Amino acid sequence: MIRERLHTIRTEIGRAAERAGRDPGEITLLAVSKRQPAEMIQEAYQCGQQVFGENFVQEAKDKIKRLDCAVTWHFIGRLQSNKARQAARLFNLVETVDRLKIARALSRSACEDNRSLDILVQVNIGMEKQKSGVAPGNVEQLLREVATLPGLKVRGLMGMPPYAPDPEKARPFFRQMKEIADRCRDRELFSDNDAVILSMGMSNDFGIAIEEGATLVRIGTAIFGERPGKTE
Ligand SMILES: *Cc1c(COP(=O)(O)O)cnc(C)c1O
Repeated sequence: MIRERLHTIRTEIGRAAERAGRDPGEITLLAVSKRQPAEMIQEAYQCGQQVFGENFVQEAKDKIKRLDCAVTWHFIGRLQSNKARQAARLFNLVETVDRLKIARALSRSACEDNRSLDILVQVNIGMEKQKSGVAPGNVEQLLREVATLPGLKVRGLMGMPPYAPDPEKARPFFRQMKEIADRCRDRELFSDNDAVILSMGMSNDFGIAIEEGATLVRIGTAIFGERPGKTE
């Protein structure tokens, strides 16, 4: 099941890239495994999937310990500063940095461990009260502040448009994300301005996100099926 779904998604990613005249090789598929058991991650890994996303530090810790495979882990959940130390140790990339306080905590932890940690800045592209993320107008300022912190590499931006059943509704938000990322790249605000990551697009709208410039799509349900337990 997972094998067929991954295959279908990779095909769709390729088609969307083609429609936009982009190289499919520049798009990373992140498998969102929150609330899915470690066995499912193992299965996806055996089908060639290597990048996974988790939303909860403790849950991820348990799974990462159980899985003995060369997986790249992204943290994509809401991050509290008291969990920042653990997150910096467990994950290869933290996608949800939206305030200086969190960035400072991650920086401290990375420095203590003598390593560097990749991060993305999360943008609240729809200015929604219930969502985290820095307001679009404050992205540049946060990037400038974070750039001064040792141990962190700001690779790009992450965003999530307001939910709408019709994925076309997300397009203007994706486009705005791309504009913000381009502007910040032109001002050289990322650690590598030739390889800026733009993380946007989920199960129901990743094709549109790719048409609008996503370089990383975060897909859960379309790979693993419905998540067990409570709905978010
Ligand atoms: C859960 C989640 C996803 C995946 O959502 P699906 O609709 O299951 O593909 C992507 N990004 C974030 C931040 C999430 O929390």
